[in-house]
Amino acid sequence: MHLAKTPRIIKKLYNNLIWDINPASRCIYLTFDDGPIPIVTPFVLNILKQYHAKATFFCIGDNVRKHPDIFEQVKNEDHAIGNHTFNHLKGWETADETYLDNFLQADKILNTKLFRPPYGRIKRSQIKLLKETKPGLEIIMWSVLSADFDINLSPEKCLSYVMKHTKPGSIVLFHDSLKAYDRMSYALPRAMEIWSKAGYRFECLNRDFRD
Ligand SMILES: [Zn+2]
Repeated sequence: MHLAKTPRIIKKLYNNLIWDINPASRCIYLTFDDGPIPIVTPFVLNILKQYHAKATFFCIGDNVRKHPDIFEQVKNEDHAIGNHTFNHLKGWETADETYLDNFLQADKILNTKLFRPPYGRIKRSQIKLLKETKPGLEIIMWSVLSADFDINLSPEKCLSYVMKHTKPGSIVLFHDSLKAYDRMSYALPRAMEIWSKAGYRFECLNRDFRD
């Protein structure tokens, strides 16, 4: 069982991280973690294009190294890029210096002010270290977790989770990974169709999202 919606207490404890955006505009911030991956990331790009949507891709540095052409495609289509470490490290189980080095290794090729810690797990000391090392860094969490990575979850359930919890200003987390593909490829186009008809726009996180 996953918490589709981030509890308020967690948001309060980590209030220097970003969990959602001002809900004044009818805007949804779609985010995709763990790519770029052949077939999966191009699938997402194609859906986004159909809805004139912009999104944010939190890339694993090592996947960018393996699939530079797909990474270029994401950038060329004007989506935002975020750092998700080079090797998808778990912050809670990693020494601070190792975590920083891995972040910087990814930063060299990603060159972005956005960061999302893998698994959402990061120590306070690591937050401080990263923000000191890279001034202006924004650490982006999420409001709605699609749980598309859960192989025991049906695609229908994944869609209903996302529909139930998303509201204006939500940061919604999907994965452009092979593991998530069955659920994501079902839920994403259907959710976007419904939201689009309801008048929502889809924007990436790099332009004035802190109002
Ligand atoms: Zn991840």
